[in-house]
Amino acid sequence: MSAQILDGRALSTQFRAELQTRVAALRAQGIVPRLEAIVAAQDPASLAYVRMKRSWAEKAGMESGSWEANEHTTQAELLDQIARLNADPKVHGVLLQHPLPKHLDEDAALLALGPDKDADGITPASLGRLTAGLPGFRCATPLGIMRLLQHHQIELAGRRAIVIGRSVILGKPMALMLLEANATVTIAHSRTQNLADLVREHDIVVAAVGRAEMVKGDWLKPEAVVVDAGYNKVEGRTHDVGDCEYDSCAEVASWITPVPGGVGPMTVVSLLMNTVDAAEAQRKS
Ligand code: NAP
Repeated sequence: MSAQILDGRALSTQFRAELQTRVAALRAQGIVPRLEAIVAAQDPASLAYVRMKRSWAEKAGMESGSWEANEHTTQAELLDQIARLNADPKVHGVLLQHPLPKHLDEDAALLALGPDKDADGITPASLGRLTAGLPGFRCATPLGIMRLLQHHQIELAGRRAIVIGRSVILGKPMALMLLEANATVTIAHSRTQNLADLVREHDIVVAAVGRAEMVKGDWLKPEAVVVDAGYNKVEGRTHDVGDCEYDSCAEVASWITPVPGGVGPMTVVSLLMNTVDAAEAQRKS
């Protein structure tokens, strides 16, 4: 195996220590950064993600809360809760943990969330700002990936990058951020033809698909940089696996993110950094 590791766990630990310092400074001025989550009560994976995000927030000295939507929750109750959080000056970041219960309109919820509280950077307002190159919250997962690449001084300008996946929360904003960093970007999706050949033309590969170990080592250009955002449960495996077949990709790549320990922790710390940015902006205003 030749690839060097893009270690999201190590970098997120460093960023969490920096966050503690920033939170302590805010607390000294009477502002306690607070993250609130809205989460589906009957979705164990979502509940576990929210528990972890809240635990990291609290370890950084922040406060957190969550509101659970269940099968009886009405759209009006959901929108009321969002309006309450929008209006509460003690709340700095609101996380709408996807997926909400199916009967609720998640798009309407995202449209209702105030852009100044969108710490996950996934509302249409935040994504529009990203597209326009305006300041605003950047989507936490691609932002975490950009931080990981920048920390390891991975050259992006002028290089060819492919993002496999075009979701609103991951693939599309990832492509826009790589473009903002002057990469030449291709977006692939389920209708893309000859994906393996296409991937082989690229220097940077971001897999954001949700298909266990789909990308193989022989799809890669030698020395490619591989970022694996996928998180997939596979029966019989003791931990989740990514969208890239780790061992074969690590043979060919120059850099690679492990799963777990790559993109996941960078996502969580970026969510918290956005929330603390919002609290600092409140102090300045
Ligand atoms: P999603 O909304 O289901 O989108 C998946 C994308 O992959 C779609 O654009 C789809 O194309 C594309 N796709 C599906 N099959 C494909 C194929 N055979 N070839 C090429 N493209 C294909 O998923 P998501 O929310 O973006 O999440 C993607 C993965 O990232 C999941 O494993 C998820 O768990 C993980 N994730 C991780 C984090 C983290 O913090 N680490 C955060 C978010 C998501 P179409 O558009 O054509 O359907």
